[in-house]
Amino acid sequence: MKTKYRAWFRCFAGCDEVYELDEIIYRCRRCDSLLEVRHDTDALRQRGAQEWKELFARRWRSPSGPFSSGVWGKKEWVCPRVDDANIVSLGEGHTPLLHVPDFGGRIGVPDVHVKLCGNSHTGSFKDLGLTVLVSMVQQMRAEGKDVPAVACASTGDTSAAVAAYCARAGIRSVVFLPRGKISPAQLVQPVANGALTLALDTDFDGCMDLVQQVCSKNNIYLANSMNSLRIEGQKTVAVEICQQLGWEVPDWVVIPGGNLGNVSALGLGFEMMHELRLIDRLPRICCVQSAQANPLYLSYLKNFESFEPQTARETLATAIQIGNPVSLCKAVSTLKAFGGIAEEATEEELADACAQADRSGLFTDPHTGVALAGLIKLAGRGEIGPADRVVVISTAHGLKFAQFKIGYHWKELEGVESRRANPPVELPADYDAVVSAIFEHIEA
Ligand SMILES: *Cc1c(COP(=O)(O)O)cnc(C)c1O
Ligand SMILES: [Zn+2]
Repeated sequence: MKTKYRAWFRCFAGCDEVYELDEIIYRCRRCDSLLEVRHDTDALRQRGAQEWKELFARRWRSPSGPFSSGVWGKKEWVCPRVDDANIVSLGEGHTPLLHVPDFGGRIGVPDVHVKLCGNSHTGSFKDLGLTVLVSMVQQMRAEGKDVPAVACASTGDTSAAVAAYCARAGIRSVVFLPRGKISPAQLVQPVANGALTLALDTDFDGCMDLVQQVCSKNNIYLANSMNSLRIEGQKTVAVEICQQLGWEVPDWVVIPGGNLGNVSALGLGFEMMHELRLIDRLPRICCVQSAQANPLYLSYLKNFESFEPQTARETLATAIQIGNPVSLCKAVSTLKAFGGIAEEATEEELADACAQADRSGLFTDPHTGVALAGLIKLAGRGEIGPADRVVVISTAHGLKFAQFKIGYHWKELEGVESRRANPPVELPADYDAVVSAIFEHIEA
């Protein structure tokens, strides 16, 4: 089926190079910069803002078919190049935006909402990007291109999503993981989905170097976040947030950052809505890093005038233990365009923020804890005030990081005080002992 919508890769450094979306290319051939996807906005403008809103709302309610996915319900904005028949979907997107007035009230910002991007097939927001990337590979294969496999380096969540979407499409996948540095749930996902799972004696950055070498010499498709097709799927989070707020724009969005693709995706989503007049202003964005892996934060302190890659130190927020983020330049330009700021969170701060939020009924992973800790700091110093509406991006499902929760509540986490630990109470099977434990709990 022909579509009038068109998108292409363009050099992010602005050297005017453009490439087709079905080219196997991740960096500009002329200047080696990252690429970004650009859309034919004149074609998109032929539908008015109100029409887009109604179309997206209709599709959100559709019970089945490709448009019932949160990503593919916005296909014209994401990747019009893929035919409907080649869409590889696992029902991603359309995740809840939860108002958490109880948690918000305690930190002096009652209008806090959490966007639960981890309520998804593989348990993280990575599904939003990988559905686009793997669908594009499916499209290329359907057109006779030789793409024997998809590969990625990962701190865990990307590999789970790559393996799941490739398995769904019947495409071989290879994942490069730092041995012993990811959670058991993350490791078992690609194993179960039939990926070749390479556990290597190095860190994420080491895996990244290797997978790039492998993919540049063989026509294996590289699924890392420098591949800007993923960003197109991820940017739908911004659109969903506005939809869920009745097309109002939050004052702040707070997001954890590692390789820094997601913060730029968020910015792109808001920019596209603004350009097509679905919204009339932009939020401010705060990107929060683990203090153990904080190169963006340190650069922010120097007004982005310089940047030092680092060797990331161990952190509970394993998915953002990254010292040399691939999408740094995109993140910096997003923060500059959105009155953005960067923050950092220590292990104690992120663990305590998780425990606080969990008491309000959430079940937060450590990366969401990093973002929540950042919010607590901004609220504490009055940067975010009681009248502000804030959205915190939750990037993964807490169940993927059960080990972290157990460590917290059993007080086994190094460098963490576990002030809100709530371990099980072990008792004999005795009526009086049980009743007195219950009343102690109720009256506490
Ligand atoms: C990938 C990931 C991040 C970081 O996203 P970037 O785009 O690399 O900044 C944060 N949290 C979780 C759970 C992730 O899987
Ligand atoms: Zn270029």
